[in-house]
Amino acid sequence: MRLTILGSGTLVPDAHRGSPAHHVEAGDVRVLLDCGSGTLHALARRGIAWQRLTHIALTHFHADHIGDLVPLLFAFKHGLAGARSEPLTLVGPNGTARLLRHLRDAYGEFVTEPGVELVVRELARPGSEAALERENAIRLHVHPTVHTAESIAYRCERGGHAIGYTGDTGYSDELAGFMDGVDVLVCECSVPDSEAMDTHMSPGAIARFAQIARPRLIAVTHVYPLLDPAEVPQLVRRAGYYGAVVAAVDGLTIQVG
Ligand SMILES: [Zn+2]
Ligand SMILES: [Zn+2]
Repeated sequence: MRLTILGSGTLVPDAHRGSPAHHVEAGDVRVLLDCGSGTLHALARRGIAWQRLTHIALTHFHADHIGDLVPLLFAFKHGLAGARSEPLTLVGPNGTARLLRHLRDAYGEFVTEPGVELVVRELARPGSEAALERENAIRLHVHPTVHTAESIAYRCERGGHAIGYTGDTGYSDELAGFMDGVDVLVCECSVPDSEAMDTHMSPGAIARFAQIARPRLIAVTHVYPLLDPAEVPQLVRRAGYYGAVVAAVDGLTIQVG
């Protein structure tokens, strides 16, 4: 699996960090994990063909995580050079189909009929999983997060390797267990420990989380301006976790397996 961070930022506009978006590629599967604003142009900047995306997987419906969903469907409707026969699958939590209907009512028919077959799969329950088509190139597992009513995290597995993405979440023992032994954990770190909250992570929360999840590498992302992203790895160490931690940046690519 090849992971590319397209957006390591938040909802706050930033010259160098887009809103949350990640691209995972393996075999015939090319999946976007979240699709925040800036994703479409970030794909172009990183040389990733948006036309060849096979799946989009949403963690929750906050605007910083889905902002480029409608523009992406609009691009499929009007920007494809030729016909495309393979379907595009939208994976998401409970309510994804309803969200899409509302977006169609607001923006037009192209949202549900973007010129390619659009399949919607809701993965709501803990332990739900989906085999992303063709030779089970990637298995996608989900787990609820501590953030919104619908929010979920993803664990992408292939050939004994795994990439975990927390989406937005507060600390949870269960979620940490779900991420057990992942090769890479893309982990949100919204706030400093002095502003710790139930629905977002802080460096101290990441240190506790990592003691349970035991990831080979943590890529810290979704850092709000109260923290300097570059300083978060050191703060996690200071909180007592000595494993590998890096600050994600837009364009970071990690080969897993
Ligand atoms: Zn959120
Ligand atoms: Zn967010």
